[in-house]
Amino acid sequence: MTRPFAEVIGDPIAHSKSPLIHNFWLSRLNLEADYGRAHVRSDELADYFTERRLDPLWRGCNVTIPHKEAVIPLLDAVDFKAAAIGAVNTIYRGPQGELRGTNTDVDGVAEAVAGTDLAGQVAVVIGAGGAARAAFAFLAGQPSREVRVLARNAEKAAAALAGSGLKAEILPFDADYKPCQQAALVINATQLGMTGQQPMPEFILNDLSGMNPGGVVFDMVYAPLETALLQRAVRAGQVPADGLTMLVGQAATAFAKFFGVKPDRSGDAELRKALLG
Ligand code: NAP
Repeated sequence: MTRPFAEVIGDPIAHSKSPLIHNFWLSRLNLEADYGRAHVRSDELADYFTERRLDPLWRGCNVTIPHKEAVIPLLDAVDFKAAAIGAVNTIYRGPQGELRGTNTDVDGVAEAVAGTDLAGQVAVVIGAGGAARAAFAFLAGQPSREVRVLARNAEKAAAALAGSGLKAEILPFDADYKPCQQAALVINATQLGMTGQQPMPEFILNDLSGMNPGGVVFDMVYAPLETALLQRAVRAGQVPADGLTMLVGQAATAFAKFFGVKPDRSGDAELRKALLG
C-alpha cells in the first residue's frame, strides 16, 4: 500500500460487505485512501497488530467473526460502547497513534430506528446474542418504560443484559406468550427469517398486530431484505426498518474514525442497490 488504508479482518473474510461500502464512500469523496480485506486467523491476530502498529499508512480496521472479543486485550483502550457489548467491531488510531476499540453496531441500531420515540414506551428484542447486545446497549440509553427480551436461553440473556446495564424482562421463546403487545419497537436480533435459516415463528408474526399503531419493526437480517417479519409488519400498519440500514449506519461511524471525515450519505440509495446486487 502506498496511501492511507483501512481494512476488515476476520476468518473467513471473503463474504464481508465492508470493502464495498467504504470504497463507495472513499470514491464519492475523492479521498486518496483504500479499504481492503485481510484474512487473519486466530493464531495470527497478535502478529497482525504488531505489524500494523508500525505501519504509518494504516488507519485501522473493522473486525468480524471470530475476533470481536479476542482483539480486546491487544488494544490500548476500549470505549463504553465496546465495554457494554463486550465486543469490538472497529479499531482506529488515537491522537498518539494508540489503538482504540469501539463498537459501531450501537450506532447502526440507532440509525435503523431513528425517529422512534421510546419515551414511556415498550421495546422488544428477539434474541440475546452478539447483535442483541448492540440493541441492549442502544436501549440502555433510551427512556423506555419497559423492555422485553425474547430468548431461548434465559441465563445467556441475563448475562448479556448485565453487561449492557439494561433492565429488561426475559420471556421464553414460547407460543403461549404475546411479547409484542403495546410495543412501540420490535427488534429481531436473531438469524430467524434469514435465507437458509429457520423462519420467524408464526406466534411472533401474528403478534405484530398487537403493537401500538405506527410502531417500528426493525429486522437485523438483510438477506433477504424484505423478511417475513417486515412484510407482516407492513400489513399490520407498522413501520419497517431493514438490516441494510444498520449495516450502512455502523460503517458510517467507522469510516469517520478511519479517515477523519464523515461519508457523503447522499448516494446511499445507490449504495444499497450495489449491496443487494
Ligand atoms: P449470535 O451471536 O449467534 O446470536 C443469535 C441469537 O439468535 C442467539 O440469541 C440465539 O439463541 C438466537 N437464535 C438463533 N436461532 C434461534 C432459534 N431457532 N430460535 C430462537 N432463538 C434463536 O448471532 P448475531 O451475531 O447476534 O447475529 C444475529 C443476526 O443479526 C444474524 O442474522 C446477523 O446476520 C444479524 N446481524 C445484522 C447486522 C446488521 O448490520 N444488519 C449486524 C450484526 C448481526 P441462543 O443464544 O440460544 O443460541
